[in-house]
Amino acid sequence: MMTGKDDSIDVVKSHIEIRVKNKKILLVDDSLLTSRIVSEFLNDNGYDTETVTTGEEALQKVCNITIDLILMDIELAGEMDGIEAARRILKIMDIPVVFFTANISNEIINKIKELNAYGFVLKGTDREALLSTVEMALNLHEANLQTSMFGRIFENFANEIYIFCPESLKFTDVNCAASKSIGYTRKELSKMTFLDINPEFNMASLQIILNQVSSGGQQQVFFNSIHRRKDGSKYPVEINLQLLDYGRIKLFLALAVDLTERSAIKEQLDKNESILDTIINSAQDAIVMLDSKGDVTLWNRAAEQIFGYSREEILGKDLHRVIVSDVSIYRTYKKAFSHFKLARENNTKGKTIEVIAKHKDGGEINIEVSMSFLKIKDDLHVVGIVHDISKRKRAYEELENSHKQYLELAENAPIGILKCDEQGNIIYVNEKALEILGSPGIEETKKINILKFPPLMKYGLSKKLEECMRNNELGVYEMNYESKWGKRVCMRLHIKPLTEWNKVTGAQVIIDDITEKKYLEEELRCLSLIDYLTNVYNRRFFIQKLEEEIELVQRRISSTFCLVMLDVDHFKSINDRFGHSTGDLVLKNLAKTIKNRIRKTDCLARWGGEEFVILLQGTPVDKALILVEELQDSINKMGSTGVDMVTASFGVVEYCSGDTVDSLIQSADKLMYEAKTAGRNCIRSRS
Ligand code: GH3
Ligand code: MG
Ligand code: MG
Repeated sequence: MMTGKDDSIDVVKSHIEIRVKNKKILLVDDSLLTSRIVSEFLNDNGYDTETVTTGEEALQKVCNITIDLILMDIELAGEMDGIEAARRILKIMDIPVVFFTANISNEIINKIKELNAYGFVLKGTDREALLSTVEMALNLHEANLQTSMFGRIFENFANEIYIFCPESLKFTDVNCAASKSIGYTRKELSKMTFLDINPEFNMASLQIILNQVSSGGQQQVFFNSIHRRKDGSKYPVEINLQLLDYGRIKLFLALAVDLTERSAIKEQLDKNESILDTIINSAQDAIVMLDSKGDVTLWNRAAEQIFGYSREEILGKDLHRVIVSDVSIYRTYKKAFSHFKLARENNTKGKTIEVIAKHKDGGEINIEVSMSFLKIKDDLHVVGIVHDISKRKRAYEELENSHKQYLELAENAPIGILKCDEQGNIIYVNEKALEILGSPGIEETKKINILKFPPLMKYGLSKKLEECMRNNELGVYEMNYESKWGKRVCMRLHIKPLTEWNKVTGAQVIIDDITEKKYLEEELRCLSLIDYLTNVYNRRFFIQKLEEEIELVQRRISSTFCLVMLDVDHFKSINDRFGHSTGDLVLKNLAKTIKNRIRKTDCLARWGGEEFVILLQGTPVDKALILVEELQDSINKMGSTGVDMVTASFGVVEYCSGDTVDSLIQSADKLMYEAKTAGRNCIRSRS
């Protein structure tokens, strides 16, 4: 109960006051004489006194001042007798009342008992009897106060308290917390034993513990147990066991503290510790902890690998003496270390230093150490994370080497290489690139900004480069370029954006000089369309041309055209008589003669052997015949060394709707043979 606690505090207070001050006795008697005599006697014996004559006055008095004991006359003048006055006072406060009466009857004795009064004194008995009754009443009251105080403490104590019998182990008393925690009522518990709620123990194992305190060897023992509740659930407890020895009566007092929360915390701590352990030992970097003297207190698996020393070998040793190779470095280390300790977090936390340490096998290792500080119970510890950078150093050197090799390669490459930054400034250019561009030197070339140089913008390269860098994609660009230094060059540029951490930082441009190649290509292209001997178009080109022309007419872009086919007459005999090379010459002359007579828009081709075809654009057959007659005449007049008149037979067709390349060729060929059969050196046509 809430008030119970407050009351017990008050009791303690008044208890202290009693010791300091004289005790105060209230005399309630309607006889002033008796009052005075008793009062004087009590004063002489060390008590303070107050006197009143009626019950009403007594009630008022106890409300106003602290009274330790009331000496109450039973027969009082006024409304209330002493019994009634005492009843009312005891109703509101706990003050020992001793009745002081002239006569005593069974009835009065019963009433006194009912009131729980502290006794009675007969008026007229000797004074010592009065004094001892008063003293006894006061002592008894004080003892009662203490009992109720301890009773309340017992009851309201937050931890479980069990009192049980040494022999039967039966509970004689339990507090409220015990009953609540274990889930049994007090009544149920009064029939149970200590073993019933501690199922992990049996009589024998419990007896060993009980003996430790009951033998007088130890005042108290602590042990852990598991309590089982009425509902079967269990919880861990720590029990403090003591023996209450009252001479003949001996009892065990067991104070139980519920460890559920504590064990949950411990479990969490254990878990955290094992996580930390895993992290520390699976880390790639060495994690090393030193105490303030510089002795190793923590050494993880990576540390074992990096330095070669096992945990057992190094724990408790001065780290710097072990891992440093020469004495002067050792001194520097020590100095730096104490400096770190002094400077603490101010400027060292997270800072890294690069040093050379010694491996167990004597070899040197490059390490990078980052230090921080940790205060554990007032002792400053240093935590070092050690990263083995030997590999990184080697890799860096290798990288530098390969970079050098790359540069050398680029420098002497048979292909132009240049690099630019994100803004288009040229930052590298090799010898071949200078040659391709006809540049006088590197510095001159570097003045060009690829993104902003007007000619490059005009040729479209600037835009292409900008696109490649923006989209981080490869690009190929071909351009016929006249460089700043007047060199005409056809280049194929391979653009490759350069990146760092996924960000484009510039581009590498490989320059392929394809001028020659382009030229050759062009030549080849021409060769494949032109007859090697007569230098007029070949059959392949002519068919293409004929197809195009048919389409132009079909689409009415061109009105019409004529196809002429001609074959030199008796050419075999020219060869036979004058030789093959003369025959060749005749063919060349003939081609030249025809070419000179036709328009630029007409097309002459060698169909094969000594056969030629002519396409006459926009020419109807009547006009074509006029031209063909002229050609016939020119061929007859064509002078070739030693050869007499050269003649040819002609077939002429005009395009008719529905004609194809094949139908046109066939018709012309047919007409030409008609001319042959007709005696040669003549023309046949279709209109
Ligand atoms: P026809 O009047 O019936 O056309 O008689 P032809 O002798 O002209 O005809 P034929 O087909 O019998 O002979 C053609 C000859 O042309 C045979 C071949 O050796 C010759 N010839 C073909 N191509 C060339 C060439 O490029 N140069 C030379 N010199 N002779 C060629
Ligand atoms: Mg022929
Ligand atoms: Mg012929």
